[in-house]
Amino acid sequence: MSTDCIFCKIASNDIPAKKFYEDEEVMVFHDIRPIAPVHFLIVPKEHVVSLAECDTKHQALLGKMLLLAPKLASEQGLKGFRTMINTGAEGGQEVFHLHVHVFGGGDTLPKV
Ligand code: 5GP
Ligand code: ZN
Repeated sequence: MSTDCIFCKIASNDIPAKKFYEDEEVMVFHDIRPIAPVHFLIVPKEHVVSLAECDTKHQALLGKMLLLAPKLASEQGLKGFRTMINTGAEGGQEVFHLHVHVFGGGDTLPKV
């Protein structure tokens, strides 16, 4: 738990979020500023700063987070989706608590 971290505050229910999946290690909620009709974040409850801070002890957690993406995307009605993990300020990360973006729906996403 990092006291000034917004995702830690969501994990402890100190600030609200539209959570729709939760277990002992992971929570999933809708992004507050969606960039697609469906846009959610898969987030560990443990405060991990970014993918760059992960090591082998996070391997199972990372696998679990990735495997949740297709399951929850399908439950949210998506036939396809994009995943994104922004890492570090230069990678576009704004919230320094690891999270996987999953988004899709509507028009076909632009090619990257
Ligand atoms: P990043 O740029 O760090 O990869 O993504 C952070 C994401 O968190 C952004 O898409 C932003 O909209 C979302 N976000 C930031 N603060 C909150 C919040 O308080 N609640 C929710 N649900 N999403 C948030
Ligand atoms: Zn945190």
